[in-house]
Amino acid sequence: MSTPFDGDGLESDTFHEECGVFAVFNHDDAAALSALGLHALQHRGQEAAGIVSQHEDVFYARRALGLVGSTFGEKDVIEYLQGRRAIGHNRYATSGDTLLKNVQPLYGDLSFGGMAIAHNGNLTNAHQIRDELVQKGSIFQSTTDSEVIVHLIARSSQKTIEDKIIEALHRVKGAYSLVTMTKDCIIGVRDPLGFRPLVLGRLGEAYILASESCALDIIDAEYVRDIEPGEMVTITDEGVMSRKPFKEETTGSRFCIFEYIYFARPDSFMGGKNVYEARKAIGIELARESNVENADVIVPIPDSGVPSAIGFAEESGIPFDLGIIRNHYVGRTFIEPTDQIRHLGVRLKHNTNAPFIKGKKVVLVDDSIVRGTTAKKIVEIVRQAGAKEVHMRISSPPVTHSCFYGIDTPSTEKLMAHRYSIEEIAGYIGADSLAYISLDGLYRAVGEAKSNTENPQYCDACFTGDYAVELTDHDNKATGTNVTKLRERHSK
Ligand code: AMP
Repeated sequence: MSTPFDGDGLESDTFHEECGVFAVFNHDDAAALSALGLHALQHRGQEAAGIVSQHEDVFYARRALGLVGSTFGEKDVIEYLQGRRAIGHNRYATSGDTLLKNVQPLYGDLSFGGMAIAHNGNLTNAHQIRDELVQKGSIFQSTTDSEVIVHLIARSSQKTIEDKIIEALHRVKGAYSLVTMTKDCIIGVRDPLGFRPLVLGRLGEAYILASESCALDIIDAEYVRDIEPGEMVTITDEGVMSRKPFKEETTGSRFCIFEYIYFARPDSFMGGKNVYEARKAIGIELARESNVENADVIVPIPDSGVPSAIGFAEESGIPFDLGIIRNHYVGRTFIEPTDQIRHLGVRLKHNTNAPFIKGKKVVLVDDSIVRGTTAKKIVEIVRQAGAKEVHMRISSPPVTHSCFYGIDTPSTEKLMAHRYSIEEIAGYIGADSLAYISLDGLYRAVGEAKSNTENPQYCDACFTGDYAVELTDHDNKATGTNVTKLRERHSK
């Protein structure tokens, strides 16, 4: 069988990011705290990181390719980033070039002064707006969708910075959790449907904004609350001012359900739910739906499969063992830029722990099958280690559609489950059986009665194709003709 990932491994470097954002208002160690916060959010983006701080009308920036620790581990870098306010960003683009010019926070000198911005999510009409703005003479410095927001803010005729941002955001569609910093304030906003997370925290007199609550824990900050879908908070010396400027577009939350399945860190709380607990509950539902009779051992594919495998083992009463060990010094498989390397990456990453597999009827648990590369390799090495039978259980429904709201998935044609039936996929990966959790089971696990199609509580487009916000660029096949003409190599 040909696989969905046959073909080019290189995708555009544009408009396709998963990210983490962080902001500190009113703390002596704003930059150091931001570095720690970004470190806790490293799983949300490993290709580049940046911090912009601000002190007495001057903005200080450090942006670089690579991990947070390699850029912000040095004392002099942190000392350079002066001031009691800072915002930061972790970037995770798809394969292809990662360009320094795309590393956030972006900065612009606007009519009211300097502004830095860090964005998590994907806009679905950014190409269209960019084309329009370029026609009118705008000069773009990067190829990220986020820069469109900067230009729209710059062109707004509204009086206050908040109103300029609101006007700009009324033009864009898609997913955004963003933080901006001007000389007077830090502003955090979540799009009307709240696709991506954003939380507010407190550390003494300081306020913190972060993509996930685990970034508050690392600096001992107290979790205050989630920023609500469609909410904008302005943090000034007077405190936090909240408003809901997108009332007409806020038709209930469509928070990304994949954050619970895979993307968020298990020790984070999202919408009041602990992510680890949600993953365990998914494993419990999965065992109820698709148990494997007389299996000898439940083995997670680490790390992402671990919590749901624990839930599966608890519910089924089958022993749990770490029959596969992961090497943590290799990045996520998706980061590798070509399919060949991706294959190699999987081997570098996982090894079998043979005594817990040999001669056994093994149930493997992972969170998702995307291209099928990981599952195929793992089944192969588990058989090599002497398993009697290998059954695969997946704690998400089949991923049949690409994400346009900020999770890095390949194009739809490259998704295994888009092209093949479950039986065909089982055959391809070489498993004796394969089962996925149902959509209703998944909703039950995250505390909702069912996947009510009239009124879905989450964005589940990757499983259903139900895209809550129009895919303007995709539908118009907008490619951003003026994008990425300059290729430039920077050393770190
Ligand atoms: P694949 O090998 O393409 O089927 O990818 C499946 C593996 O990638 C699973 O083990 C997931 O934990 C992981 N995964 C799923 N979604 C993503 C994503 N958006 N970015 C990186 N890894 C992912």
